[in-house]
Amino acid sequence: MPLTLQTCATADAAGAALSSDAAARYLGGGTLIVRHANEGDVSFSRYVRSTDPSLSAITVEGGRVTLGASVTMGRILADKRLHCLADAAHAVGGPAIRNMATVGGNLYAPAPYGDLGVALLALDATVAIGGKTLPLEDFLRDRDTVHARSVLTAVSFALPADGALRFLKVSRVKPKGVSVVTIAALLDERNGTIDSARIAYGCMADRPVRAPAVEAALAGRPRTADGIGDALAVASDGMEPVTDAIASAWYRAEVLPVHLGRLLLA
Ligand SMILES: Cc1cc2nc3c(=O)[nH]c(=O)nc-3n(C[C@H](O)[C@H](O)[C@H](O)COP(=O)(O)OP(=O)(O)OC[C@H]3O[C@@H](n4cnc5c(N)ncnc54)[C@H](O)[C@@H]3O)c2cc1C
Repeated sequence: MPLTLQTCATADAAGAALSSDAAARYLGGGTLIVRHANEGDVSFSRYVRSTDPSLSAITVEGGRVTLGASVTMGRILADKRLHCLADAAHAVGGPAIRNMATVGGNLYAPAPYGDLGVALLALDATVAIGGKTLPLEDFLRDRDTVHARSVLTAVSFALPADGALRFLKVSRVKPKGVSVVTIAALLDERNGTIDSARIAYGCMADRPVRAPAVEAALAGRPRTADGIGDALAVASDGMEPVTDAIASAWYRAEVLPVHLGRLLLA
């Protein structure tokens, strides 16, 4: 089946084109969607993309970062103001993928992908989509239903204190294998005690998810082996890890507390 490409000057026009044609798909960097087409996915016959400059913008103002959806992992890595996201951006594929892979595409990518999304979820990011701003967590919940035919235009978050965001991607193939489990932790600490924590996982569901049981078990505890013990005991509570060629759901749940402990104590 022939594939057509429609280029729209504005994100709004791209959104309208997407919502009016069930056979249209938004084209970000194309690292996943073009692969689907090459592998014979005939559920779509039209790519829609947008050259709207706002989609490629990076702004850092008043302690808040806004990334247009078309910003690539490579551009995040090249921008020193975004060093809090460097580990997560670097975790996405190899250099060729990072040169193409966009922020917007990463938030739509199913597990075992979505490494940047895990860090953004821990950062309590918001997304701009369909003219509205909503918490990333809400977007992710409704991503494949309510937001399946919209254009995500930007993601925004408050810059964390230096070192407050911890990120770990565990993979079996070095240096650029896909994730067994990805963990991001935003810790607010005072005098060695964790005041509050936001913990996000990749591969513990089909998309990035928070770990509320772990967050509750960490609050008010010292960041020591004893202090985080209760949190590790509930590390996989409420999770539905994915099974794929890399690891089974059982394996992912088994190794999660080990890696969470390492990340928290590092
Ligand atoms: C070899 C290889 C290795 C990879 N390794 C990793 C990895 O280690 N970690 C990881 O996280 N990912 C990995 N990926 C997956 C992928 O490259 C990234 O997740 C990337 O960020 C996806 O972005 P994209 O712009 O290429 O998405 P695209 O392929 O353009 O799009 C992916 C999906 O998102 C939708 N979409 C894209 N942008 C928008 C938008 N702005 N609004 C609405 N919908 C949108 C598309 O319609 C499509 O359904 C890998 C892919 C390959 C091929």
